[in-house]
Amino acid sequence: MITMRDIIVDGHPNLNKVSNLVKVPMSFSDKRLARNLHEYIINSQDEEISEKYKLRAAVGISAPQVNILKRMFAVHFDFEGILYSYVVINPEYTYLSEEMTYLPGGEGCLSVDYDTEGLTPRHWEIEMKFLSFNLENNKLEPKTLRLSGYPAIVFQHEYDHLEGILYVSKLFDELPGIKPAFEIEVIENIEEDE
Ligand code: ZN
Repeated sequence: MITMRDIIVDGHPNLNKVSNLVKVPMSFSDKRLARNLHEYIINSQDEEISEKYKLRAAVGISAPQVNILKRMFAVHFDFEGILYSYVVINPEYTYLSEEMTYLPGGEGCLSVDYDTEGLTPRHWEIEMKFLSFNLENNKLEPKTLRLSGYPAIVFQHEYDHLEGILYVSKLFDELPGIKPAFEIEVIENIEEDE
């Protein structure tokens, strides 16, 4: 299983490299990688497992973050009642809206082990074409997803990893004229836990 020891962090040169296409049909080791990436996300969201293995919670992870420069990432999250659970292979954008958005409060990343401040502009809506690795039957299925708001932000963040881009290279104090993906309630008097 993947743990934090396997994840490379900002400063490692491979996080700034463009990853290579995954060869199809997938090799045994690429299939194992696909499973391991997806498993990390599931484990990281499990209270007991994440505590035991000290895993940072995440909704997505890309192959370059475990120092394998291949165009593959896994996501697993629920948003507004829809589950987005995929291993994405060789993704391509087929649409990027002109309208932009951002994650209120800023983004985070398993490969950024320090605090950041700032907002990262993302396209409000995207369409992504990719091969979806089916974890049940080990097969690849062509897939096209149209995403907007939060899910679109997650997919863009992961796609950026395949291009060697970290969100920390795209931080702005403010993004005038751009609306956040959703409104966050400001909870006052919350104790900082870090
Ligand atoms: Zn990241």
